[in-house]
Amino acid sequence: MSATPLVSSANSTIPETATLPPLLGASVTELTAWVQQQGQPAYRGKQLHDWIYHKGVRSLADISVFPKQWRTDVADIPVGRSQIHYRSVAPDGTVKYLLQLSDGQIVETVGIPTEKRLTVCVSTQVGCPMACDFCATGKGGYKRNLGRHEIVDQVLTVQEDFQQRVSHVVFMGMGEPLLNTESVLDAVKSLNQDVGIGQRSLTISTVGIRDRIRELAQNHLQVTLAVSLHAPNQALREKIIPSARPYPIEDLLAECREYVEITGRRVSFEYILLAGVNDLPEHALELAKRLRGFQSHVNLIPYNPIQEVDYKRPKSDRIQAFVKVLQQQKIAVSVRYSRGLEADAACGQLRTSNL
Ligand code: SAH
Repeated sequence: MSATPLVSSANSTIPETATLPPLLGASVTELTAWVQQQGQPAYRGKQLHDWIYHKGVRSLADISVFPKQWRTDVADIPVGRSQIHYRSVAPDGTVKYLLQLSDGQIVETVGIPTEKRLTVCVSTQVGCPMACDFCATGKGGYKRNLGRHEIVDQVLTVQEDFQQRVSHVVFMGMGEPLLNTESVLDAVKSLNQDVGIGQRSLTISTVGIRDRIRELAQNHLQVTLAVSLHAPNQALREKIIPSARPYPIEDLLAECREYVEITGRRVSFEYILLAGVNDLPEHALELAKRLRGFQSHVNLIPYNPIQEVDYKRPKSDRIQAFVKVLQQQKIAVSVRYSRGLEADAACGQLRTSNL
């Protein structure tokens, strides 16, 4: 019997480069439909699901509970797993992976262990077209979107390597998730239903693409939305985020308000601290005014150095002063001291060329 490719529901994402759609990212219903198309009994769908998501099988030929002849027939159907091309461990236990995809492209993934959690920072694109001035990924240009299997694969890879369940996933690696919404939403669904991670433990971070936050809200998910604001006004924002030019900060924040109204979830705002650029007390005050009455949380990220630009991380008293102003203005705030700096794995340091 010849193997027919997986034909999944309308929301399947089939990467242009692949000749057959990979199975990873498919639900138990989709997998069951596929095995039945192959002339196999329905229960083999559940088995296949278990081997892909819980046993980490990389080739259908290795599924020992399947009949020998059928295993041979379907041996070439891609599961959709990547290869670990490079792995580096920072002194704080953060592990950075360079993963090689089926077309040879490389993406970065970071595993961040803390006492109770294992968080994976996933990439959504190879490279990034947004070109934020302070971000290493943007300096390297853009190659392509990732398929849903390539996003789910990153989480399984970290889970297997740490031999520990992944508790949280942040879509904060290479790329702009809302330029690849279809694969990102498919991956969210699969991480939730197939890998078993709660939606509230998933965070999608975006620099803001017109209309996309509203569209995301209309999916009524319980995921956390993080928005990379980085400046309290349009003039300053445009200077460091060129893609913000056609999308005024007022419009971005209006969409964020809609997100809160539609989903009932608060929005988290990321704010990179660049010494002398956006870290002054008056910036904090302006930010507080903008966010007044908004169900939000501000996450300050002291700048992590990259080679191409000479921004500086503010001294800690400056960071504390910024925090204090926000607190006085009753804005919920935390400081994210990035993990993995020594492995070039911290926010904004991900690039594929630092081997
Ligand atoms: N494209 C998405 C997600 C990727 S980046 C977004 O823009 O939100 C994840 C976070 O790291 C973003 O807030 C980004 O602005 C921030 N970041 C980028 N470069 C950084 C750097 N050099 N130091 C600290 N944070 C950085």
